[in-house]
Amino acid sequence: MTLSAGVTAAEVELPGAPPTTTTPSADPTPSAQPEATTTKTVVPLRTLRRGARGEYVKDLQQALRKRGIRVKVDGMFGAGTRRGVKIVQKRLKLRSTGVATTGFQRRLGIRPRKLTVQVRALVVATPGDLKLVRPVAGAVTSGFGPRGGRLHAGIDIPGRSGTPIRASAPGKVVRAEWESGYGNLVVVDHGNGLRTAYAHLNDLAVQKGQLVTEGVAVGGMGTTGRSTAIHLHFELRIKGRAINPVPYLAPPR
Ligand SMILES: [Zn+2]
Repeated sequence: MTLSAGVTAAEVELPGAPPTTTTPSADPTPSAQPEATTTKTVVPLRTLRRGARGEYVKDLQQALRKRGIRVKVDGMFGAGTRRGVKIVQKRLKLRSTGVATTGFQRRLGIRPRKLTVQVRALVVATPGDLKLVRPVAGAVTSGFGPRGGRLHAGIDIPGRSGTPIRASAPGKVVRAEWESGYGNLVVVDHGNGLRTAYAHLNDLAVQKGQLVTEGVAVGGMGTTGRSTAIHLHFELRIKGRAINPVPYLAPPR
C-alpha cells in the first residue's frame, strides 16, 4: 500500500482489510464457540492489591510465608494478605500501603514466569460481551471518527517511549512487523473476525504466530512510521471493519 502525501498513519487501512466505513456496526454477527488452546506464555507481573486473584497472588502469599507471615496460600488477595504486605513493607522501610507493586514483588524474589494458560478466542455474540483490557494507561487524545475529512480508524494514547503496550485480549499474533505508515505494528487475532492493532511501537516484543493472553506486552510505545509524537495508535476491527474501541475498554487501573 502506498501512502499519498498528507495521509496520516491513523487513516491507513490495515493491509487486506476492507475499507472502513464511518458507520461503526453495533451488531457483529454471532459466531460459533471458539476453540481453546493451551500454551506457555510469559505473564508479566502486575500490581496486586486487595481483590486480586491468581497465580501471582499465590506467589506473593508464599513469599510472605517465607518471611514468617501467617497467610493462607489461596491465590486470593484479602485482608490477611494486605496485612502481610504492610508488615513486610514496614520491615523493608517502604511505604506501608498494603499494595504489592511489581517492584515490591521483585524484591520478594517473585519473577515473571512462563505459565501454562488456556487461550480462548473471544466470543463476540453481542457488543456487550466484548471486553478489552486497556493496552496502556493514559488519556485518549484523539478519538475514533472523522479527522481531517477521513476516518481516524483508532484511538491515540500518548505516553513515554518504551511504555509496555499490552494485548487487550487473548489471541494469536498475526502480524509483528514494519508497516508503512503504522511503523512497528502488532495485530492480534482474537477469533470470530475480531482483531486489535497496536501501531507506532518502538520495538516488537512478540512474533507472528505467538499466542498471547491479555496483558502480555506486545511492544513498547514509540513514534515509528508516520507519527509526529510518541503515542499508541490502537484499533479494534471486526471482520476488517474498524469500530470505536472505547466502549469496550475496561476503565484505567
Ligand atoms: Zn491514531
